[in-house]
Amino acid sequence: MIKVNNANKCFGGVKVLDGISVSVEKSDVLGLAGPSGSGKSTLLRCLQGLETLDSGSLECNGKTGFMFQDFQLFPHMTVLGNLVYAPNLNNKDVDCRRKNEERARETLKNLGVESKMHEYPGSLSGGQKQRVALARSLMVNPDILLCDEPTSGLDVATTTDVVTLLKSVGETGVTMIIASHDLDFLTQISDRIILLKDGKIAVDVRVREQSDPVGYLKKYYVGE
Ligand code: ADP
Ligand code: MG
Repeated sequence: MIKVNNANKCFGGVKVLDGISVSVEKSDVLGLAGPSGSGKSTLLRCLQGLETLDSGSLECNGKTGFMFQDFQLFPHMTVLGNLVYAPNLNNKDVDCRRKNEERARETLKNLGVESKMHEYPGSLSGGQKQRVALARSLMVNPDILLCDEPTSGLDVATTTDVVTLLKSVGETGVTMIIASHDLDFLTQISDRIILLKDGKIAVDVRVREQSDPVGYLKKYYVGE
């Protein structure tokens, strides 16, 4: 589904991605761990086409949805406006627009935030913004969902909700790559975790094959 082959990317002379190769099968959930600055966001952004590699290749066989760190909701649009913005772009067909609104309502309902539909992001809590951001990324019906630090800034209870939400998305067969520095969160959600360090993959583990995946991964975490 996703194939990264010898990916290299430099920023100002620093190798942020240094020969990264990884394949992800359909419906797999891959956790991207690593200390701050290890290149997690850069890899996700390259997969989404927001950034280009210096060399190497990327293959993403399917439609991708991207959930940004800190949500990046449009503050001047209502929750509904945020959700239908992309699907309605260049789409003047009234029926189609109505269908998009209906689907937005349905998605918000599934995530428990339908009542916030006509509110602006500024009036939502962190957990609610999180749900709206997830709903927005699901509006494109992605085959692949890329999530950048989906739990940053959330309390423990809300993080547990995010785990439940993302698991329910995973159960629909969506392939996911989730970047997070939170190993507890990542091990709850991922089938497999790779840990980036100095632009390279320092560890690659199948979570179920480890009795203590967090402890195992922590050994490779120096500097955080
Ligand atoms: P992570 O998400 O793991 O914290 P990032 O991928 O955001 O790491 O960043 C990796 C490194 O690349 C950092 O040192 C960061 O400062 C640098 N970097 C990321 N994006 C840019 C950019 N657009 N311009 C310059 N440097 C960047
Ligand atoms: Mg990041």
